[in-house]
Amino acid sequence: MTGTPQTPIGIMTCGQNQPTQDVNCMTRKVSFVVYCAPLDQGNSMYSDVYGNDTSHRGVTDSASYLTGLPYVVVNADTNDVIYPYNSANGVTARFPAKVALPGNASLHDGTRWVHSLPPINIPDHVTRITLHIASDAYRENRRFQLFPWTVPDAAHSKVRIYELRSDLQDKFAARNPPLANLPENTLAAKQGADNEYYGYLNGDLWLKISPEYDDGAITRLCPPETLTRTALHGQVEGEPISEQAIVDWMAVLQPIYAAGANSRSMAPFNVRIVELGITVSFADRALANAINTSNRTTVQQALRRTSPRTFAALLKAAWRLHIDTVAVSSSWRPMLGSSLHKMGIGLDVVRFDDGQENIHFLIHNHGPYDRNHAFPTGPAGQKMAALYQELTADHEVSGSAVYTPWINWIQPHDTHMHVTVKAG
Ligand SMILES: [Zn+2]
Repeated sequence: MTGTPQTPIGIMTCGQNQPTQDVNCMTRKVSFVVYCAPLDQGNSMYSDVYGNDTSHRGVTDSASYLTGLPYVVVNADTNDVIYPYNSANGVTARFPAKVALPGNASLHDGTRWVHSLPPINIPDHVTRITLHIASDAYRENRRFQLFPWTVPDAAHSKVRIYELRSDLQDKFAARNPPLANLPENTLAAKQGADNEYYGYLNGDLWLKISPEYDDGAITRLCPPETLTRTALHGQVEGEPISEQAIVDWMAVLQPIYAAGANSRSMAPFNVRIVELGITVSFADRALANAINTSNRTTVQQALRRTSPRTFAALLKAAWRLHIDTVAVSSSWRPMLGSSLHKMGIGLDVVRFDDGQENIHFLIHNHGPYDRNHAFPTGPAGQKMAALYQELTADHEVSGSAVYTPWINWIQPHDTHMHVTVKAG
């Protein structure tokens, strides 16, 4: 693979009455356009199915977009990377910036963010191509072929991908002729259009795309380590007492990854991490977005798509600060907001408690005037400041992407702290 784009060699018409040629007579280009899922609120297809019942909503506050999402296009038969053209050392391409498609545009289901990927030159020897996106785009994870497809003999083929809830796919197709419902993970020609194809990226497919963190991955990403902290009480010869915990993350995180097997319940639940004396409390509907956008995703499957680095970083910081409860409102989730939770590298924290020091803190500012200002004063606010400090100093955390309702605020972080860990 060279680092320079293949230069088109011009287009020859291959009409039916012309002599058959054994070589491709044109350089083929393929462009993908991805239409991200709209919000359920205001989506008439949702209300047609569920009326005013909001309990099935998955996508609630910030519509899906994919800016910066890693992807590669590969030869589906050899797995060689076709795009980016220079893919040495596992380099991936990234989704370009989003553009708004207004709700009154042709798709009838709400405002969608749209990403147009650049036209990609398909080498002559390639028959079938496929995409790898999100965490599955990384060379070491590449496992799920998204939309494997035989490239047509056309100069420029356009592929439109519609992201939508699995349970609304029938309705979407019915409302948008000439689109039709399609088998999962397939592309089809758009009737009546030249060189246009389409497919559906639904929640069931997101489940398949997103890598599950098994024991091997946990050990690789979070090797065993020894944690230290200062004891809350007591001194030895005038020095504070240092405490240690030897932590095998594979074992410590097991109760989290074992929770919710075969369950699609939205009810809150607690996971006790005995080794660290910490309870992880999953809020009501914490996994709603994963479950409601898919016909089959379970609580456990959603948790297992959340990087162990997220839980390990939070637990480590909490233990060092004597926090005994952390409440989480979102982990891996497709089809909502930015790409971080879709990649399983984001975790939202809404509350923490330190029972010994009687500190109970809701991570929630009092209004816009708190944004990008110092953490609250007092013991609880200062514990919050210390928690932020611990997390941003952790090498497994993307320090600049820890967002709070105070320091490092960005929309929409008034009611929680968002922790981002390194991808991989
Ligand atoms: Zn978040």
